Amino acid sequence: MRYAVLGLALAALLGGGAASPAHGTLSTDAGGSAQARPAATARALDGRVIVIDPGHQLGNHNFPRRINRLVPAGGFRKACNTTGTATNGGYPEATFVWRVSKLLQARLERLGATVRLTRYTNRQDRWGPCVDERGRRGNRVGADAKVSVHGDGSYTAGARGFHVIAPTDRRPWTHDIYRPSKRLAIDTRAALKAQGLRVANYVAGGDGLDFRSDLGTLNLSDVPTVMVELGNMRNAVDARRTTSPRGRDTYAAALADGLRRFLR
Ligand code: ZN
Repeated sequence: MRYAVLGLALAALLGGGAASPAHGTLSTDAGGSAQARPAATARALDGRVIVIDPGHQLGNHNFPRRINRLVPAGGFRKACNTTGTATNGGYPEATFVWRVSKLLQARLERLGATVRLTRYTNRQDRWGPCVDERGRRGNRVGADAKVSVHGDGSYTAGARGFHVIAPTDRRPWTHDIYRPSKRLAIDTRAALKAQGLRVANYVAGGDGLDFRSDLGTLNLSDVPTVMVELGNMRNAVDARRTTSPRGRDTYAAALADGLRRFLR
């Protein structure tokens, strides 16, 4: 114990010495504190906490009673979750968003962020969590932002592209977060566009943004949040991107860039 204390005192002395002008690359007020590091090691998302919500567990369709149970969704009740969609070839949305979310997690962690997920498996013998738990996940960990990742399933002919959904202003549910959530939506749209992705051609407005009051995942959040529908999995062009490793990495890169823009 005594040696440890001595060691700390020595380290403090050495730390103080390192801040001398002879070591010009260190910040002048280093003073031996852990926060004062050379600028080269600072990362864009150091100290940030981000929640990723990979929508729909793979096994939801095996648990209809649990999935159809009504849960709080922000002033009303709604089914716990749904099965999600799939490509016409049978590639499930749950697996698509799981893989994008893991790629996104790795990118965010490389930028210094602490990442929490709403589910930690993608399995046929698991279900949930329900939308109320997904909605509150960021609150519990004091997140700076929460992104819910989905793929859409529109059967409209030629429907393709991404859209970003933010909550409307509904007291007392979303009044505290609707403004920053809209900023997060705009930054996420810009980042997706910067990757060469097109906004959805089948969503009202046509600008890639949608504002909804019926989503528990957004309504129950006390931290800035958006839901992204990355593409229409029933469309052949979007399906090719969602089922390819390169396509999924493009989506993950865009989502990481959107968060980086928002938290800058
Ligand atoms: Zn979905």
